[in-house]
Amino acid sequence: MQSKLPHIGTSIFTVMSQLAVQHKAINLGQGFPDFPMSAQLIECVHQAMKDGSNQYAHTYGVPLLRERLAEKIRYLYQTNIHPDTEITVTPGGTYAIFSAFSTIIQPGDEVIIFEPAYDSYIPNITFNGGIVVPIELEFPTYSIPWEKVKAAITPKTKAILVNTPHNPTGRVFTKEDILQLQDIVLQHHLYLISDEVYEHLIYDDKQHETVMKYPDLFARSFVCFSFGKTYHCTGWKLGYCVAPEALMKEYRKIHQFNAFSCDTPKQIGIANYMTHQEAYLNIGLMYQEKRDLLRDLLKDTPLVRIPSSGSYFESYRYDSISNESDKVFAEKLVKEYGIATIPMSAFYMNGTDHKVIRLCFAKKTETLEAAAACLQKLHA
Ligand code: PMP
Ligand code: GLN
Repeated sequence: MQSKLPHIGTSIFTVMSQLAVQHKAINLGQGFPDFPMSAQLIECVHQAMKDGSNQYAHTYGVPLLRERLAEKIRYLYQTNIHPDTEITVTPGGTYAIFSAFSTIIQPGDEVIIFEPAYDSYIPNITFNGGIVVPIELEFPTYSIPWEKVKAAITPKTKAILVNTPHNPTGRVFTKEDILQLQDIVLQHHLYLISDEVYEHLIYDDKQHETVMKYPDLFARSFVCFSFGKTYHCTGWKLGYCVAPEALMKEYRKIHQFNAFSCDTPKQIGIANYMTHQEAYLNIGLMYQEKRDLLRDLLKDTPLVRIPSSGSYFESYRYDSISNESDKVFAEKLVKEYGIATIPMSAFYMNGTDHKVIRLCFAKKTETLEAAAACLQKLHA
């Protein structure tokens, strides 16, 4: 069979998690929490099932959930989003992003992304017939080189994808970033896909700059979210997309013949649980403490931190102790030191290797301590 994705292999997350299992290593590679989610939220889902809510949900998402999301967006970002026409619940954030690409890309369209990039974007664009135009973030600050973005625009440029807070670097958009982005998108009539799955995982008193706060920019945007990140249930694979009515109309044409609808009891459970605002308002602080604990535990190792202000990842340079490629180094960490991480080069199309590994700190204190004990064995 002729492959539609001839150059795509197995996701680095699968590779590293499998290696972790095989070598019984502590897994700070793939991003997921290892602590329990809210028992109350589980109970809400259980209740919905017992109440008989077990058939297909509305194709755009359970109406109460969309209303609660619109209320939340109004409360957090002072933006009015219409729950009937501008929100669609999806089976996860990845699907929300994939559907946005499918909605806008015509064969041969160019899409600008920033590297290091979350690993689904490139195959998503390619699969939809688009051409990926990667722009490297400046190392080691991982800031966006806006002049290079302007220079990369051609008559074929259709869209830009941004991700803030950023996976894998933890960089967070400034207001200046979003204004630059807005200028470019509006001037060249582009579309924007904004991956905001880590909207609440933001630290050091920074504010999340959502595209939804900028009406002119939002008019050309698909903004994607994941309940998995917010409620510590990545395995539930539930998310949503917010887009203006005209764009959402086309998006829904694709969604209705792909997933059609999402898990009903989970949507009802989340809708009922969403009145607990503290659940999402407090997670920034909770994760910041975890980030800081890991920082503290690693301070006497030869690893050099590249500061993260968001997401559940922080990256570390190891170039003072090894010249090995990051993939070889990460493999050695699993096999010889008992800890799985993610080599940063996996997030670059051409394998750019700055000798950096990504660590996930969404873990229990015991896990972070055990992971640090492995890394403390590294010597200069
Ligand atoms: N975007 C980024 C940057 C992510 O890290 C993730 C988490 N895997 C997603 C999207 C997708 O989220 P989900 O698990 O809901 O598909
Ligand atoms: N978002 C998670 C990460 O970046 C994992 C996602 C996945 O396994 N597909 O590690």
